[in-house]
Amino acid sequence: MKKTKITIAFLGEIPIKLDKQIISKRVSNFFIIDKIVNIPITSNADGQNWDYSDDNINGLLPINYSGDFLLTITHVPLEDNYYARRFSNNRICATLYEIADILKVSNIPIENLIYRLLYSYLLIYKRYGNRIPQQNEITNFTHDETRKCLFDMNGIKSDVIYSTNKPQLCSECLIRLKKDGITENDLNQIQKELKKINKVLYYRILDFIQQNPIWTIIISSITAIILGVIGSVIASFVYEAIKNY
Ligand SMILES: [Zn+2]
Repeated sequence: MKKTKITIAFLGEIPIKLDKQIISKRVSNFFIIDKIVNIPITSNADGQNWDYSDDNINGLLPINYSGDFLLTITHVPLEDNYYARRFSNNRICATLYEIADILKVSNIPIENLIYRLLYSYLLIYKRYGNRIPQQNEITNFTHDETRKCLFDMNGIKSDVIYSTNKPQLCSECLIRLKKDGITENDLNQIQKELKKINKVLYYRILDFIQQNPIWTIIISSITAIILGVIGSVIASFVYEAIKNY
């Protein structure tokens, strides 16, 4: 598969710690981050719940950009409280509103959500013949059931934690993607890359401890015994060395 160029835009202030450098350097065999741009929000919310309607967002997004498609990240609520909306000219807008709080509680980096969005929209772009279908088009690439899959609907937003930590492609999505022309080899490669979307080491260790308390006690006890033995051996060597000096 030829690498797809993706432009990322940050729309308005993102009041969350986010490493744009790390995102821009994300390595994939399937896409490159063409450019990261910042776009100001110059209008107020026009929805009843302080949300920004599709028309409002559409007026803020650039029509022209350098990549093959545009992934916009914002923090304002979107129409109908969706976490992502699609627009003409292969443009997408996803929001961190509420999602960022859910990820924070589960110690999942916000960057993971952006990686998930990159892979899912890359596959949508490819299966629709190098275009992103618009919001009003009837599509069937998501499923309501949460399967830790890139194409989980996440109608219940809190379920996003399952597809932002080692996400995968479920068996049904794999069949559909193959039918839509994505090769098995590419899908296998993508699955491998998805496994790298992970928590940072500290929180992986913490998860292990929480999930395996008995093993943690056994491992820490054995470690303490080994350290004790090593300490005694070193002390004996030091003692002998001093004695023979
Ligand atoms: Zn799926």
